[in-house]
Amino acid sequence: MEDLMLYYHVPFCVSKCAYCAFYSTPQWDEPLLDSYTEALIRQTEGFEGSEGFLVTSVYFGGGTPTVLGALRLCRVLDAVKRCFKLKNGAEITLEANPKTVTYDDLCILRKAGFNRLSLGAQSFNDPTLRLLNRPHTAEDFVACFKNADLAGFDNVNADLIFALPNEDEGALSYSVSRLIELKPKHISVYGLSLEEGTPLFDNKEKYAFPAEDGEERQYCTLCKLLRDSGYSHYEISNFALDGYEAKHNTGYWKRVPYFGFGAGAHSFFRNRRFETPRDVTAYTEKTKLGFLSPTDYENAEEITEAEAREEEIMLSLRLAEGAPIALEKVPSVIFETGCGVYENGRLSLTEKGFRVSNAIIGMLMN
Ligand code: SF4
Repeated sequence: MEDLMLYYHVPFCVSKCAYCAFYSTPQWDEPLLDSYTEALIRQTEGFEGSEGFLVTSVYFGGGTPTVLGALRLCRVLDAVKRCFKLKNGAEITLEANPKTVTYDDLCILRKAGFNRLSLGAQSFNDPTLRLLNRPHTAEDFVACFKNADLAGFDNVNADLIFALPNEDEGALSYSVSRLIELKPKHISVYGLSLEEGTPLFDNKEKYAFPAEDGEERQYCTLCKLLRDSGYSHYEISNFALDGYEAKHNTGYWKRVPYFGFGAGAHSFFRNRRFETPRDVTAYTEKTKLGFLSPTDYENAEEITEAEAREEEIMLSLRLAEGAPIALEKVPSVIFETGCGVYENGRLSLTEKGFRVSNAIIGMLMN
């Protein structure tokens, strides 16, 4: 049987965050959520009877999947269970925004089989959350986290952003410390990326952003705080308590095949990458026509052997375990500058190396 991961994209949000350039929209109503749910189920049912796959993880991301509501999400998960064989202990993750789930919702979702929750905290400073147009406060996040725990979600990830406008190292340390108090099993950290066309980009002169060295210091500070609290830094942006590394994300970095469901969802299958239409109406209509074959998808791209090897190196260098690469192919400057170590035929990046990973990958690809 072939290992397979499933990704479900829900491109709806409560409001649009000021920094967000993802495919997501705050414009939806109940009939649209109903018809989108039916489309997700139809696309899933296209796989009914396919016996060659063993699903190792399912990930509902977005957007904000919990905008669909617990009952619609449970219907989609039921379809997954009906149409695919799930591995014992398969990780089933649901992304959520603190204001979009109640304790009762969380109980329903946990009972239905969701076993991992990924919550967006981003910052514990309310003025920053307002500036980012996040629809929740720090205390909303804490309440949601506690509700998740009570509802039986033992495995919770929290997202944090560093290099935020008007935030210095002190403000970041405050957010990290508040988060550590809650002891989530997994923490993802991202440096803010200012994307053209977003409100934050358009108004960037109004805010103070850390300079490059300030951004580096923030990254080092949060790495240290998390390490000192028992989190292992197993991937550039990800930290976990022992045994709680994210299986789905690790699968992406190890090039496990995955199928994407929903509008604008990407797939990687048998050395091809392809995606569904990035438009809710076009996607929904397509599922009515029998949305089965990878040849029906858009932007299909065949990966050559050389590209596959490059991808393998690029993706595995994100992980603490590093990439399998011959020592003579590694420029010595990577070791001389303390950015990498070599052991058992693998090059691993140090924390310093993680900070300049793009430059190192560029060097290795030349
Ligand atoms: S919740 Fe996520 S996807 Fe939605 S607007 Fe904010 S950053 Fe974008």
